[in-house]
Amino acid sequence: MLSHLLHLAGIESIILECRSRQYIEDRVRAGVLEQGTVDLMIETGVGERLQREGLRHDGVWFSFGGRRRRIHLSELTGGRAITVYAQQEVVKDLVQARLDAGGQIVFDVEDLTVRDLDSTRPKIRYRKDGDAHELVCDFIAGCDGFHGICRPTVPDGVITAYERVYPFAWLGILAEAAPTSEELIYTYNQRGFALFSMRSPQVTRLYLQCAPDEDLAEWPDDRVWEELCARMRTEDGWAPAVGPVFQKGVTGMRSFVIEPMQFGRLFLAGDAAHIVPPTGAKGLNLAISDVLTLTRGLEAFYKSGRQDLLDQYSATCLRRIWKVQRFSWWMTSMLHLFPGDDGFDHRRQLAELDYFTSSRAGMSSLAENYVGLPLD
Ligand SMILES: Cc1cc2nc3c(=O)[nH]c(=O)nc-3n(C[C@H](O)[C@H](O)[C@H](O)COP(=O)(O)OP(=O)(O)OC[C@H]3O[C@@H](n4cnc5c(N)ncnc54)[C@H](O)[C@@H]3O)c2cc1C
Repeated sequence: MLSHLLHLAGIESIILECRSRQYIEDRVRAGVLEQGTVDLMIETGVGERLQREGLRHDGVWFSFGGRRRRIHLSELTGGRAITVYAQQEVVKDLVQARLDAGGQIVFDVEDLTVRDLDSTRPKIRYRKDGDAHELVCDFIAGCDGFHGICRPTVPDGVITAYERVYPFAWLGILAEAAPTSEELIYTYNQRGFALFSMRSPQVTRLYLQCAPDEDLAEWPDDRVWEELCARMRTEDGWAPAVGPVFQKGVTGMRSFVIEPMQFGRLFLAGDAAHIVPPTGAKGLNLAISDVLTLTRGLEAFYKSGRQDLLDQYSATCLRRIWKVQRFSWWMTSMLHLFPGDDGFDHRRQLAELDYFTSSRAGMSSLAENYVGLPLD
């Protein structure tokens, strides 16, 4: 997305990706797009398939005590909504748009390193098909995810990390089963949290709270379905439809933010700079808002010689990031069982769910954050 936005602003960039095109286009991850992400994709010409195939949701459900309550997102936010469109589809659309516009994406790079970050000519070295290459850049954007190399290259003492690790994880499946609800359902249950979601009219995406070190071998499909149904079934008889599972994985949960997100001419964006627990469905959307802010800074630099927006990059991003962190942490705290609870948390969580699904003020706050705070 950064490369696409820079191209529209007349700024040249090269993407270096250590995986193959097929790998990144098949990688299953996020699926909930905020209104701002959807609007940006449409406004910048990469939203055609999203508009055709994306599933717009005007509401979201919360299930607890055996009953479901709906929050009408668009009614509470002046018409804003979320759209379910898988991250790998966003990636496919962006890769295609870059290639169609003559953009350079080098896949399968190896041994990538960044250097001279505090000079005006930072460099990237990498190997491709065994040959060594060096790129001399004006700027480097470290968009290489949580396990990338850009953040660890910043000298010690420059960056401070703030972190919370949660005592649980999510076991997620993709199943060939038509969704039995048109909208997402977040379930709070005494057996643990569960989330009903979907990727298309034929594919259901489901998650259940599990241990951080959960062994997938102990979760044959039958057991996963049994547990999902036990947590999600409501008094009115609603339950997810069962079908063949074609993907299964465990996702850890953490909150992580670094400050600042810049060192010299290296700007960190997305998961390289922060991780949110997936409960709020915000990771992809935050990465998009970072690169929009970075594009504006780089545009001002190249078009008017202004440095101030780049200097404020970190502060501008962090103001939004911390609000999104707060929301993701709060949704996580409200919906998961915490080990060692003596009953206090359980009662607090039920009261919180009751309040945020019945008070107009509570529902408005949840809806405003869920469809996405304004971009920049
Ligand atoms: C199971 C799961 C479910 C999720 N659900 C949601 C959701 O519903 N909503 C949501 O908003 N977010 C969700 N997320 C989070 C979301 O996927 C991430 O926040 C998002 O991918 C971050 O984008 P990014 O571009 O910063 O990093 P990434 O998508 O990780 O991209 C980084 C890229 O850099 C490449 N790379 C890494 N190291 C190097 C290197 N040394 N050299 C070259 N290339 C390198 C990687 O191959 C990768 O392609 C989910 C994540 C997971 C794992």
